[in-house]
Amino acid sequence: MTTSTEQSVVIIGAGHGGTGLAALLRQSGFTGPITMVGDEEHLPYHRPPLSKKFDGPSVQQLLRPAEFYADNQIDLRTRSRAVEIRPATKTVLLADRTEIGYDTLVLATGSTPRPLPGTPQGTTSVITLRTLDDADTLNRSLTRGGELAIVGGGYVGMEVAAVARSRDMHVTVIEREERILARVASPELSRMLTDYHRDRGTTILTGRSVADLRTDGDRVTGVHLDDGAVVDCGTVLVGIGAAPEELLPRTAGLEYDDGVITDEYGRTSDPDIFAIGDVARRPVAGHHGLRRLESIPAATEHARHAVAAILGQEPEDHEVPWFWSDQFDLKLKIAGLTTPDVTVVTRATPGKNAVSFFHLQPGGNVVAVEAINVPADFNAGKKLIRSGAPVDAAALADPSIKMRDLVARSEGA
Ligand SMILES: Cc1cc2nc3c(=O)[nH]c(=O)nc-3n(C[C@H](O)[C@H](O)[C@H](O)COP(=O)(O)OP(=O)(O)OC[C@H]3O[C@@H](n4cnc5c(N)ncnc54)[C@H](O)[C@@H]3O)c2cc1C
Repeated sequence: MTTSTEQSVVIIGAGHGGTGLAALLRQSGFTGPITMVGDEEHLPYHRPPLSKKFDGPSVQQLLRPAEFYADNQIDLRTRSRAVEIRPATKTVLLADRTEIGYDTLVLATGSTPRPLPGTPQGTTSVITLRTLDDADTLNRSLTRGGELAIVGGGYVGMEVAAVARSRDMHVTVIEREERILARVASPELSRMLTDYHRDRGTTILTGRSVADLRTDGDRVTGVHLDDGAVVDCGTVLVGIGAAPEELLPRTAGLEYDDGVITDEYGRTSDPDIFAIGDVARRPVAGHHGLRRLESIPAATEHARHAVAAILGQEPEDHEVPWFWSDQFDLKLKIAGLTTPDVTVVTRATPGKNAVSFFHLQPGGNVVAVEAINVPADFNAGKKLIRSGAPVDAAALADPSIKMRDLVARSEGA
């Protein structure tokens, strides 16, 4: 299906994917009506600062200046929640019973943090982090209490741990797996980060899970662990992952399985509806099966591909998936998707707080790189992943051999 430049596009979700898509439509010459509905009260904003800068005013960074939407004839409706999609009449129903008609609909509703099971109703200071309001709650809560327990040693949890430690909070991370970042990082990176956080005073408990919370009235005072230990705390940050919201896509009868199923351009099982960003599960170039990638580069790329498909333009190339994280003075950049059969090659830059981990498949090709404070290794790693050519592991581990020579060799292979 191709949308003519006069037809209407409705976007549900005013976050990274939705806003990027609206802007790109206009940049690509689309002149039809664009409506974007978002259930938050704020203008669309950047999410990464929520876990990295929640303790200061720079937590709020708008994705686009306030005047951008009117200047570009984008009808942005904040505080508007879509509750039903009616494909038969090609309308979206909002919570206030307003109906909006569409020719093309884009679902960009993101994902919602998983709550900690068993949290008693009404308990304050047990916080999940997804929105600016959550970040504000976390910031206020940390000002009050000296002890923070973080359930889940994923990126959001570890970023919050770093900020809280720099505010001299007592921080305990409780991770169910045997290592932090078990789902998303190599054992080498997990180990390095564990040591880095511990050296800066964070307690990291692995292989432990939460039995229940200790409360005093509506306030939390501690976390009971499965081994009987208690972590005293005034605030609990729950960072145990996020899941897309299923009900809305179900109202449209869209194919759904841990995310809205789409093709590589974001087309869902309904030819007039696209899904992008965290809510979409779709093919990733060079990998089997469908993946839900929760990152800004993925949401941005999805938006680009969907715009091309909506306008019937030549689709763009696929980018190697990537992600970043900041913890203390460490700038992590991670590209590619690892597989269980990889060998991890470490490349340390002497005399600097800088190291990279390259993930090599048995054939010697690189499938992922984790670069800490070495943007050059990250950029080169992306090229190696894209080339798919085998790389000499010993040369890769040797910082005296320039990355650009290794890339040139792999591109010539
Ligand atoms: C604390 C935090 C830190 C992060 N840090 C990084 C990082 O450093 N690097 C990185 O690459 N990624 C990071 N991410 C992930 C990244 O923010 C997401 O992958 C990205 O925002 C996904 O974009 P999206 O458009 O799919 O969803 P979002 O940006 O989440 O936007 C979805 C919007 O839709 C709204 N919505 C949902 N349902 C409805 C409805 N029914 N009606 C109307 N509106 C609705 C939501 O409220 C939300 O505003 C971080 C995420 C969080 C929470």
